[in-house]
Amino acid sequence: MQFEFYDTLQREIVSFNPIEAKRAGLYSCGPTVYDYAHIGNLRTYLFVDILKRTLSAGGYTVKHVMNITDVGHLVSDGDTGEDKMEKGSRLAKQSAWEIAKRFESHFFEDLDHLNIIHPEIICRATEHIAEQIEYIVDLERKGFTYINDDGVYFDTSKIDQYGYLARLNVEGLQAGKRVSYVQKRNITDFALWKFSGATTRQMEWHSPWGIGFPGWHIECSAMAEKYLGPLFDIHVGGEDHIPVHHSNEIAQTQGRHGTQLANYWMHGYFLQIDNEKVAKSGKSLTLATVIEAGFDPLSYRYLVLTAHYRSRLNFSWSSITAAQNTLKKLRKMLGNWEHGGVVDTAYVKKFHDFIDIDLNTPRALALMWDMLGGTLPTSVKRANVIYSDQIFGLQLDRLEKTDEVIPEHILTIAEERKAIRQEKDWATSDILRDKISELGFVIEDEKEGYTVRKK
Ligand code: AMP
Ligand code: ZN
Repeated sequence: MQFEFYDTLQREIVSFNPIEAKRAGLYSCGPTVYDYAHIGNLRTYLFVDILKRTLSAGGYTVKHVMNITDVGHLVSDGDTGEDKMEKGSRLAKQSAWEIAKRFESHFFEDLDHLNIIHPEIICRATEHIAEQIEYIVDLERKGFTYINDDGVYFDTSKIDQYGYLARLNVEGLQAGKRVSYVQKRNITDFALWKFSGATTRQMEWHSPWGIGFPGWHIECSAMAEKYLGPLFDIHVGGEDHIPVHHSNEIAQTQGRHGTQLANYWMHGYFLQIDNEKVAKSGKSLTLATVIEAGFDPLSYRYLVLTAHYRSRLNFSWSSITAAQNTLKKLRKMLGNWEHGGVVDTAYVKKFHDFIDIDLNTPRALALMWDMLGGTLPTSVKRANVIYSDQIFGLQLDRLEKTDEVIPEHILTIAEERKAIRQEKDWATSDILRDKISELGFVIEDEKEGYTVRKK
């Protein structure tokens, strides 16, 4: 399988060529655990999950690393404002450390609800302070830093083509520079280490520059490098990370190693709610709220699959209701169809034509529904859907979770009856039909097989 993905760095769909054959090193920026993740955040993790499943289906061994930002970065991208962890701690009246643990476990519950495969390596910023300090020491030695009253800063003017990922117009930004309380040399410079100063902080560490805490961007460069090396295959995150966070991760790695950190940079587009921007401090919705409203969380997964990851998706109660109904319909169909069919190779090929070229889940879903409306035997239709579900991840092979379930003992009688009908033993076939009926189910014969449903 030759994958093609949209690379934000090159601004086009390109062939994916891994560093090592059949292996993919993948880093995704993880959650900041000062609050619940919102369903917008979860859309990005679903996109990463589809990417991983696609690579795995193509025979790749994926090493997926994700960080947990459990040390406060600041509420603005510009290194100003209140520290997010300290703010979460103040609001919840718990320590910053407790807040981090609490929201990290909520986050993993959300992933499980959405059937998102966990990363192979999960790394917390607070557990990698030494690596971050070592990184900054190296950048300092190589001449990429300066110190001001606020902390140790990265001098972005030392990097050729700083901000290329975002096609930043640094000169234009510089001209529009407003006075800020930190004395930055260039508007795009950012903190590597912040001094605690007079503020008492719950999370702070000793460093060669004094007591303080790491800047937001350094944790990703330091941990990605530790687990995947200074140049790996794919780095992913949400589209908001393009102009600041990922541009800075690249700058740090260019400074330390002269590499662009990852060969391919992929970004998931934002979810909107009722056509408004989603933010933790604004219009927001958690998965728990969606579940409390009576939705199967996998309906949200289905909804996300209906949009290409590089298009904005709008969430509304009516769109998730439609997704839930469609998913129910699919489950109901599958529950009635016999197991053991063999996939149709023509379908599988078309499916991969959509998925392997930049993860086109909406086209792949449409293909599946077309196939379901066609004339293939139901057992083959079922096998095709289950095949597609390795990528879709809707747990369609676990129908016992739904109320549409057909118990195993009914299916056994149905299978027995099917075999008997092939031998044209109509009398026994009728006896078995009555037996199924007595047990509360109806069996209907079709050209190829049968369907069973509850009375
Ligand atoms: P955060 O916890 O704020 O660091 O965000 C975690 C991930 O969610 C990042 O990859 C963000 O880019 C992504 N993200 C934030 N808001 C949205 C949104 N509305 N839709 C999709 N992804 C988002
Ligand atoms: Zn990151």
